[in-house]
Amino acid sequence: MAGTGSCIFCDIVAGNSEASVVYRDDLVTAFMDIRPVNSGHTLVIPNIHSTGLEKIDESTGGRMFSIACRISEAMPSAGIKREGLNLFLADGVIAGQTVFHAHLHVLPRHTGDPFAIDIERLERGIPSRTELDNQARVLAGMLARTRRR
Ligand code: 5GP
Ligand code: ZN
Repeated sequence: MAGTGSCIFCDIVAGNSEASVVYRDDLVTAFMDIRPVNSGHTLVIPNIHSTGLEKIDESTGGRMFSIACRISEAMPSAGIKREGLNLFLADGVIAGQTVFHAHLHVLPRHTGDPFAIDIERLERGIPSRTELDNQARVLAGMLARTRRR
């Protein structure tokens, strides 16, 4: 699992690298991002190394999400101001991943801050209902075959 020196987040889980830990249990660890986009920016990671989403089992993935929600909920009482919040996970270089141990960003948002996924502004076509139905059917079929533990 952790602490080999080849993965900075494994080193954090193993206690071999400095981190400001917010939460820790048998499945996940949450700590403050070292270069926060906004104050309070937190990362939630699986304790067991997984580069992206593919090796994260359901209980770990579920725990990552629920801890992210709890951190979000706790922020205002902890003095971390936010107008809104993004949960964000980059899987792969093209998606913006720079640390290759999966992590869920818990990112407080403010008007005019530098973070942007402005999906409404992108030029996007509208596929036909048939196309959407076909994609949904194929994806649903694959999902039924890729049930996780
Ligand atoms: P990514 O671009 O992979 O989605 O995000 C990686 C995040 O990890 C960045 O926000 C970056 O600031 C943070 N990060 C990188 N190295 C360290 C580290 O050693 N400690 C902490 N706490 N955060 C880190
Ligand atoms: Zn790792």
